[in-house]
This record gives sequence, C-alpha cells and structure tokens, in this order.
Amino acid sequence: MVKKALNCFSRTATSTELSGECKTLLSLLIISTGFLVEITFVGMEYFNGGRFLYIGNYVIFLSYLAALFILRAGKPLISSAVAIGATTATLCFHLVKGEIYSLYWFPLIPLLAGMVFDFKVFLLFTYAPIFLVSLIFSFQLFDDGFILFTMETYKLGFSAFAAYLVFSTVAALYKFLLDRYREELQTLLERDYLTGVLTRRALFSRLKRIDCKKSPYSVIMADIDNFKMINDTFGHQAGDRVLKELGSVFKENLRRDDFVGRYGGEEFMIVLPKTDKATATLVAEKLRKIVENRTFDFPGKRVTVSFGVADCREGKTVKDVVELADERLYKAKRLGKNRVITS
Ligand code: GH3
Ligand code: MG
Ligand code: MG
Repeated sequence: MVKKALNCFSRTATSTELSGECKTLLSLLIISTGFLVEITFVGMEYFNGGRFLYIGNYVIFLSYLAALFILRAGKPLISSAVAIGATTATLCFHLVKGEIYSLYWFPLIPLLAGMVFDFKVFLLFTYAPIFLVSLIFSFQLFDDGFILFTMETYKLGFSAFAAYLVFSTVAALYKFLLDRYREELQTLLERDYLTGVLTRRALFSRLKRIDCKKSPYSVIMADIDNFKMINDTFGHQAGDRVLKELGSVFKENLRRDDFVGRYGGEEFMIVLPKTDKATATLVAEKLRKIVENRTFDFPGKRVTVSFGVADCREGKTVKDVVELADERLYKAKRLGKNRVITS
C-alpha cells in the first residue's frame, strides 16, 4: 500500500493524467486529513471542558462519511471535493465558535486541492475560504451586537488570515508554473517534434491501457513508399514536409478516439479502439486512397503509402499484434506497395 502510494506520486510528474488508483489514494488521504483536523478540534474542546459534540460536528462527520461512500462509488474527484469542502466548513464552523486557531489550519486547503484538481478548480477551493472568512469577520463590522471575537483574537485572526492570503497566492503561482512545466514535459515526451503525432513511447503507453478482452482494437502500420527516393531527389527538407503533412492527413481522417503516432523514420502506427479488423481494413483503404489522390506540398507532389492491419485478438501481447501488423506491411511492400494487407 505504502509502496503503491509512493509509486503513484513519482509517476504523476510524467503521466498524461493521474491513474484511477492514484486519485482514489489521494481522495483517501484528503478524507483522513480532514477527519484528523476535526478530531483534533473535538479533542481540544474536550480537554478545555467544553461541550464537545455540537450538531455541527455531526454534520461534518457525516460529510466525511458521504465522501467515503462517493469514493466507493468510483468518483474520487467528487469525493475529494466533498472532503475538502467539509474541511473548509469545519474550519469556518470552529472560527465562528471563537476558536481562532482554526485559521492556522486553513493552508491545508490549497495544499490538498493542489494535489488533485486542475488549476481552475484549485483556485475555487483556495479562494473560497478567503471569501467565507471575510464574510464571518464582516459580521463583526456590520452588527455591534454580534460579538464573535475580542479585539485581541480579532487582531490575531487577522494576521493569520493575511498569512493565508499570501500562502494561497504563492501556492497558486507555484501550481500554475508547475502545471505549465508538466505540460511542456508531457509534450516533449509524447509528441513527435517534426510531425506533431504521438511518439512511439506514448503510443505504447496508451496501447497498454486498453484491455483487448474488454474492448478489441486494431492496429494499422503505414510506411511511405520509396521515401528514400523523395529524400534523394527533392532533399531532406521536402521529405520532412511530406512526413509532417502525412501526419496531419492521418489525424484529420480518423475518429476522435483513434490515435496515430510515428513508429520510426517514415513509418506510422494507427490504433483504432473498439474496432474489428474488417472495419480497420476499410479505414486503411480509405486512408490509402486519400493519400494516393492528394497533391502534397513538395515538388514531387505525389506520395503513396503501404499498410498492414492486425486485430488485437490475433496476438497474445501488444508486441505480438504490432509485429503482425508490421509483417503484413512488409508483405504489402513485397507485393508491389500502395496497398493494404490484412493476412
Ligand atoms: P519502401 O518503399 O520499401 O518503404 O522504401 P523507402 O525508400 O521508403 O524505405 P527505406 O527504409 O529504404 O528509406 C527510408 C528513408 O527514410 C531513409 C531515411 O533517411 C528516411 N528518413 C527517416 N527519418 C526521416 C526524417 O525524419 N526526415 C527525412 N527527411 N527522412 C527520414
Ligand atoms: Mg518506406
Ligand atoms: Mg520504413
């Protein structure tokens, strides 16, 4: 469990998004942290000889329980939102009760929200406490009869509040920069610099996430015909332009769920989730015709591509399926190029 959690944190820096398992772990962490905060307050009240269970306490405990149920229902992000909301409510509740030290716990909110949410939701959770605390403090200003705090605690509270404001703004700035850095890193790892399609690494990491038994997919391998001649006749720059344009042609003519990447030099790999071989063959044939009839933006104008198609049920592992599609591609080359081979 601990090892899993550590893996989870180390992986977040480079993966496209948190895995479901990581989201669940984070949600559990947030629920237990919030719970711990509330237990601490209740404990302090008990030792101060106060009435240690108010209706408010029950409501807060019920919220954490609700967050646990939502987590079990497989919605870790909503569960985290409920748990962070409950923690904000806890802190405001204790603040209203005059427990001014609850202000010192507020920095937990941006810290926890920063771990799970993207920037906009993070901002909401970070600045909502500022709004709520300002509201609570303003009661004092508008109503003379409403005395929540003595002047002394008011001053203390105000400085803690100002510290929170600074802390949360620095946290927001940090998260903003970190998110941008992470995005750049992801692009670097996952997008091919020349063509803008996926890298081989990204292709395989996505492929491994699809379960062939649950949703069968097909793989199409595509290789430009006589590309060496294009390079030799019109120069490397022209060759690069062809590669780039072909990447766009593939992307434009596939469904949203399909993905295309550069497998090697002038070889592309296309993955069609939830697609059997018969349909994938039609797709490959469609792409072949589009390329054949297109006028490319280089002096030679014309390009053709050969295709090999395989279904994930034809091999035991991802590697087997890719190899099979590759074998068929080379069969297409041997049989005269500019064709689709499926067996
Ligand atoms: P075939 O029809 O059998 O596929 O022949 P081909 O000429 O396309 O294949 P071959 O493997 O003989 O040559 C591939 C060429 O692709 C050789 C290599 O210089 C070129 N190449 C690989 N990557 C790039 C690249 O990023 N840019 C350019 N311009 N050329 C590249
Ligand atoms: Mg080639
Ligand atoms: Mg090749």
